[in-house]
Amino acid sequence: MIDSKQKGVILILSGPSGAGKSSLYTALKESFPNHYFSISSTTRDMRDGEVCGIHYNFVTKEQFQKDIELGNFLEWAEVHGNYYGTSKAPILNALEQGKLVIFDIDVQGQVNVKKSFPNHTTSVFVTTKDSKILEDRLISRGDMDSEAIKKRLKNARCELDNISNFDYLLINDDFNTTASELICIVKSAFHKASLYDLESFNKSWSKL
Ligand code: 5GP
Repeated sequence: MIDSKQKGVILILSGPSGAGKSSLYTALKESFPNHYFSISSTTRDMRDGEVCGIHYNFVTKEQFQKDIELGNFLEWAEVHGNYYGTSKAPILNALEQGKLVIFDIDVQGQVNVKKSFPNHTTSVFVTTKDSKILEDRLISRGDMDSEAIKKRLKNARCELDNISNFDYLLINDDFNTTASELICIVKSAFHKASLYDLESFNKSWSKL
C-alpha cells in the first residue's frame, strides 16, 4: 500500500499581503518539521529585515529574464509591478523526498502549480474579514509607503475574485484559531485519495 502512494504534498497559501500568510507558515513549521518552504526569486526591492536566500532570492530583472529563458521556473508571474517566480529543481527534489512543500504565491501561481501537480496540490486562500482590517494591518507593518499600500489593497480586491479556484478559504480573524484550522487542513492533505496510484493499490488487493 505504501508503495502505491505518490511522494510529497504541496500546500499553496495565497491571499492578500497582510492577511497573515507568513505568520501561518511559522505556525506550520513546528507541526510539520519535514517540510520545504519554496523560496521564490523576485525582482522587488528588499525590505528592512529581509535576508536574501531566506525570504526571497532577490535578483535583477536581467537574471530573472534569463531564468525564464532557461526554463528554470515552475511558474512565474508579475505581481504589484514586480516579478516573482518559483524555481523548478528544488520543488521536484523536495517532492521526491516525500516532504510537505509549502508555497506562498499569488493567485496566478496557484493556477499554474495546480495545473502541474493536480494530484499533490491543496490550496488555501487566506484573507482578513474585510478591507479595512487589511489596510490597518498593512499600515501597522510600517514597511510600505501609502502608494504601495493603495496598490496592494487594489490587488487584494482582484485576488478575492479567484477564491473559487481554491480548496479552502480561511478568514484570519483570530490567529490561533486560523493556525489550528490550517494544521487540520494539512493533516487531511496527506490523506487525499489523489495521492495514491489507485491502479496499483487495487492490484495489490486482488492478489489476496
Ligand atoms: P510580497 O512582495 O509581499 O512578499 O509578495 C507579494 C505577492 O507575491 C504575494 O501575494 C506573494 O504570495 C506573491 N508571490 C511570492 N512569491 C511568488 C512566486 O514565486 N510566484 C507567484 N506567482 N507569486 C509569488
